[in-house]
Amino acid sequence: MAADVLKPDFAATPRHFLFTDEHDRLRESIRAFVTKELLPHAEEWEETTFPDWVFARMGELGLLGLSYPEEYGGQGGDYPCNIVLAEEMAHCGCAGLAMGIAVHTDMTTPPIHLFGTEEQKQRYLVPSIAGQRISCLGISEPDAGSDVAGIRTRAVRDGDEWVINGAKTFITNGHRADYIVLVAKTDPDAGHDGISLFVVDMDVPGIVREQKLRKLGMHASDTALLAFQDVRVPTSALLGQEGKGFYHIMWELQGERLIGAAGCVAGAQRAFDRTLRYAMERHAFGRPIGRFQVTRHKFAEMATQIEAARQLVYMTAWRVANGDYPVREISMAKLFAARMACDVTDECLQIHGGAGYMKEYGIERAWRDMRLNRIGAGTDEIMLEVIGRSYGL
Ligand SMILES: Cc1cc2nc3c(=O)[nH]c(=O)nc-3n(C[C@H](O)[C@H](O)[C@H](O)COP(=O)(O)OP(=O)(O)OC[C@H]3O[C@@H](n4cnc5c(N)ncnc54)[C@H](O)[C@@H]3O)c2cc1C
Repeated sequence: MAADVLKPDFAATPRHFLFTDEHDRLRESIRAFVTKELLPHAEEWEETTFPDWVFARMGELGLLGLSYPEEYGGQGGDYPCNIVLAEEMAHCGCAGLAMGIAVHTDMTTPPIHLFGTEEQKQRYLVPSIAGQRISCLGISEPDAGSDVAGIRTRAVRDGDEWVINGAKTFITNGHRADYIVLVAKTDPDAGHDGISLFVVDMDVPGIVREQKLRKLGMHASDTALLAFQDVRVPTSALLGQEGKGFYHIMWELQGERLIGAAGCVAGAQRAFDRTLRYAMERHAFGRPIGRFQVTRHKFAEMATQIEAARQLVYMTAWRVANGDYPVREISMAKLFAARMACDVTDECLQIHGGAGYMKEYGIERAWRDMRLNRIGAGTDEIMLEVIGRSYGL
């Protein structure tokens, strides 16, 4: 009987077990905000960098503290809420903006929440969640990026103060930030145990915001070179335990990498969807270009890669949400999703032909913006090192 014949459910949109009805509602409301209030400015902000009011507005909407406790102004949600935010921000068409926000929500504030004193939480976390204070994260230096233990920025104890000297580079939000979560050496002879975290107001004398760095993509974000010249901060600026900063920042990097991977999947999906529409509209040799077998296979390859990355990200996020610390899988997700997203946006540009090279279609921007993901938050090579070493090699 015809009714017994199973038809493929190509149009079905099954929900992953990571998410609930509540996440779906959150997703809908973020999508509405992003498409109505952010997307229309995507082109303008590519030229000007995005304005600070985005933080204030997102704070007002409760989007900067989705998984933080209500006592600090958060929404009290779970970790998958952060994944939903990262995915939906990809729809603002402005990866630089998405990165600036992710630095704030998933990179700087988590260490303050986990390691900070109550005073630090009140001073930095609460106004950050409200969108009233903007943060940046200072790990990388002109002479040390991948090699975090090789940083040279020094913090020397002087009575009731720490005196900080050094430089940080490639710092996202560095020009607009009100404060920085900073990695510095407190004991140069102690190796990994000689590094500490600090949280420092950016208006302290001695902090110099050098020129805005010019980049390949992510133009909507500001990227700073920062100098620290005899910057004096009180002992209360130490974040977490003295000498434990290396381990604290390695923990922070796991969240940064997984959120970045989620953004890669969503960004790749967005490029794929746009390109699919284009491939049906654009004709050559008497048919839509999507109907050439070679193009069809490109879409099949891309869809498979995107789905594989998504499952890796979701499964890893599920483990994080359940209290695991899956460093190996986070590294795999970050590596795989970043490579996949770069490959997909490159193929999408190719399918667009000359139009892909033009600004009008937005694909060249997706391609440029995506490239950072194989470098930032730990390069492909560093991810491979983490994964390889996890097998005792
Ligand atoms: C747009 C942008 C925004 C950024 N935002 C921030 C930010 O907000 N805060 C922050 O602290 N940093 C930020 N970064 C810095 C980023 O995290 C670093 O660029 C990244 O970690 C790589 O460090 P590096 O640039 O010093 O490269 P290097 O460490 O000099 O690496 C150069 C090359 O050598 C390879 N390599 C290094 N070590 C090894 C090894 N052991 N084995 C094999 N290969 C290796 C690398 O994989 C890479 O290919 C940002 C970077 C960019 C481009």
